[in-house]
Amino acid sequence: MPEDLAAAASRAQLGMQSPRVMVETHAGSGLPGTTVVGLPETAVREARDRVKSAIRNSGFKYPEGRVVINLAPADLAKQGARFDLAMAVSVLAATNQLDTTRLNEFEFLGELSLAGSLRPVSGTLCAAIQSRAQRNWFVVPYENAAEAHLLDDCSVLPCRTLTEVVRTVADPEHHPGLTVLPPPAIDPPPGLFGTIVGQQAAKRAIQIGAAGAHHLLMIGPPGTGKTLLARAMPELVPRLEAEVALEIASIYSAAGLVRGDYFRIPFRDPHHSASAPAIVGGGRTPTPGEASLAHGGVLFLDEMPHFAPAVLNLLREPLESRVATIARTAYRAAFPARFQLVGAMNPCPSGRVCDQTTCRCTSAQIQAYQNRIPGPLIDRVDLQFWVPALSADQLTALPVPESITGLVEAVEQARRRQTARQSHLNADLPGIEARRKAPLTQTAHKLLTTAVEGFSLSARSYHKVIKVAWTIADLEPSDVIREVHVAEALSFRAVDWENRLGVG
Ligand SMILES: [Zn+2]
Repeated sequence: MPEDLAAAASRAQLGMQSPRVMVETHAGSGLPGTTVVGLPETAVREARDRVKSAIRNSGFKYPEGRVVINLAPADLAKQGARFDLAMAVSVLAATNQLDTTRLNEFEFLGELSLAGSLRPVSGTLCAAIQSRAQRNWFVVPYENAAEAHLLDDCSVLPCRTLTEVVRTVADPEHHPGLTVLPPPAIDPPPGLFGTIVGQQAAKRAIQIGAAGAHHLLMIGPPGTGKTLLARAMPELVPRLEAEVALEIASIYSAAGLVRGDYFRIPFRDPHHSASAPAIVGGGRTPTPGEASLAHGGVLFLDEMPHFAPAVLNLLREPLESRVATIARTAYRAAFPARFQLVGAMNPCPSGRVCDQTTCRCTSAQIQAYQNRIPGPLIDRVDLQFWVPALSADQLTALPVPESITGLVEAVEQARRRQTARQSHLNADLPGIEARRKAPLTQTAHKLLTTAVEGFSLSARSYHKVIKVAWTIADLEPSDVIREVHVAEALSFRAVDWENRLGVG
């Protein structure tokens, strides 16, 4: 490369992808001025000013003559200030203010302040994963180091200032590496589940739901603990494997968010006023929505009929394909969205004032209210159950925290059995496969057949009963599905949607 020409590598961000971008600088003679090619018009001026100031305020010289900075490939959508650092490094290299011997072993990511310090950017983890695949040194802002930590990789080099970056490029082996403390390995147990008073049936349903990742819907008057049950559910789920934790952390990284405990399943509870992009993703640049932020965990929709039906309808695709696709004129991106849907609703539109004995809502009002939840969503729900009002005795009882260790262990081994058997949890078992492979005993099969005829269950409901019964058997654990498992699974069709959720 000619002396006044240099290049530094960086990474763009397109959803979960981080394609490599080369930042080339030519520092020549001619009228003073800087031209930036390959960035959107609006971003150019700001980037140019930041880079120039950062270089000068770090004690280096910004070239006097003509400077051309080119970000390639040109047709790649590039946004934000994430290329500042690579631009500065490239300028310093082109003007011999930086050791270029090993520059091609490096990639750089980060925004620069006018004073020359590095500011965090989104998508660091996604970029670090792809940079690692190329066996490069990857320089990131210090504040992004915690997320990169999950990689457990010494090639990620967090830096605080441009000066520190220049030192590091000359001698990467002497960089202290990832000295940032990792996120705490074990969350202090929040202990919600063990303090829920009464509601034994609902708690059992929650445990079954956790064991098979079944979508579930809780129906009951306000104040009976539906929200508490949903919030407590992640406590029953075992800690995540490193690979899954990394995948989830990448989604948060793409959203510019940092998770508290990477190894606990995510729990997201968007408000019912949430917009479509907030739920399934979107924005000026591809940003994951709640469906993806709940990947590997729980998406809790409280007061489900209060969500805009159009927004709820958008969840159909991720529920079906387990991916949220965002298509805009400017881009197309996809984020993983394998969430467990947990819904809660009142039995009638005036749930705040009605109870089962005083409800005066007309059946037409009740029906219109329930119909706000799209049928295809209800079709995906394996477990529907009542969370009834508590008796006066139960209400006055003081919560005595119970140990949930046994419950968590049962869920853990049930999940292990499922993944060993079919490489996914029972919720994702196709209906036909469930029917063909479920190890029902003869009496269990007989009970199921009788129930199907007696309750005139649809084929879909029939498959759901088998899947839930299988999870119940896995919890026990039992290699066969017995009558008692089917009977319990059938109890979750008691509030079958087809029969409506009539109150009183
Ligand atoms: Zn009512």
